[in-house]
Amino acid sequence: MISFLDLKKINEPYEAAFQEKLKTVLDNGWYILGNELATFEKAFAKYCKTDYCIGVGNGFDALVLIFKGYIQLGKLQKGDEVIVPANTYIASILAILQADLIPVLIEPRLETYNINPDLIQEKITIKTKAILAVHLYGQLAEMDKIKEIASQNNLLIVEDAAQSHGAISTLKPNTYTLKSAVAYSFYPGKNLGALGDGGAITTNDPELAKVLFSLRNYGSEKKYYNDYIGVNSRLDELQAAFLNLKLANLNIDNDKRRVIAKRYLAEIKNDKIVLPVWDFSTNHVFHLFVVRTSNRVDLQEYLSQNNIQTVIHYPVAPHKQKALLDFNNLFFPVTEKIHNEVLSLPISPVLTESEVSFVIEVLNKY
Ligand SMILES: *Cc1c(COP(=O)(O)O)cnc(C)c1O
Repeated sequence: MISFLDLKKINEPYEAAFQEKLKTVLDNGWYILGNELATFEKAFAKYCKTDYCIGVGNGFDALVLIFKGYIQLGKLQKGDEVIVPANTYIASILAILQADLIPVLIEPRLETYNINPDLIQEKITIKTKAILAVHLYGQLAEMDKIKEIASQNNLLIVEDAAQSHGAISTLKPNTYTLKSAVAYSFYPGKNLGALGDGGAITTNDPELAKVLFSLRNYGSEKKYYNDYIGVNSRLDELQAAFLNLKLANLNIDNDKRRVIAKRYLAEIKNDKIVLPVWDFSTNHVFHLFVVRTSNRVDLQEYLSQNNIQTVIHYPVAPHKQKALLDFNNLFFPVTEKIHNEVLSLPISPVLTESEVSFVIEVLNKY
């Protein structure tokens, strides 16, 4: 069986180094907000070419805390509208709601699955204060256009990079919004994954960073003195230490993903399968390789019979979820089409060349 994502195999090479780190943390006897976290925050900020990194409990909290941080700074207010792609993992939308803000959903482009910037302007009202750009499946959203719309309308930019570690930092310098805030998840299956939950925020905004360091820790900078109504969302020492070991190989791992993606794009030749569009050579880290097909049940069954495991990201659009009843009557045909047709093929740094060849061969015979 070719598994969709073999996490055991991904983490195996680190076993000895993990054991050593476990011993270090045990010897130190310090488990929260210590040297390991500070070291990782410094390393990840450097990797992302940002001034600050704030380690938090998970990717969802990273998003929520960015919004809460801006509320604390007076840059957002409860009830403000936030532009967000309709086609995303629901966490992006739930984070906006969790911060008492209002998500305004925008259709994606069918070709890239990412938000269609041409549809943003018409949804902007006097209450619109931010755009949450999601770099879905590892591919950067069209940030030049998003940046332009944001600056014309005086909007904040927040980025959900939970699926795109390394995609931003490979861009040319100065092509990016200096003051945006970016949320990362280190959920085990992400391109940089912990052995449990984890997340981080990166930013170049010193005021926001200062508030975030406090908000994640009960709104407290000095122990038992609370400046804000904060939360408990800290990246713990062990996870930070493990992540630091894996960070060293992130670019190599992303390159391996791109090599597989290139092969899939060049060698899968089947009219029944629509391949994803990769428009720039550097901005995609292929967290997922997502194809479309009109009879997904059939294709998934066929692949499964050939011992190839696939996953659907995602079967139900956020606006069609029971949890978002108020959104259920909205109509997003492109988003719905994507949710009906997508299937994710195996892609990961540990997938072998012959496994990739086998997937291609089986798909071409379908
Ligand atoms: C994984 C993910 C999140 C949430 O991250 P967690 O660490 O699971 O909380 C948010 N947004 C997107 C797009 C994701 O894929």
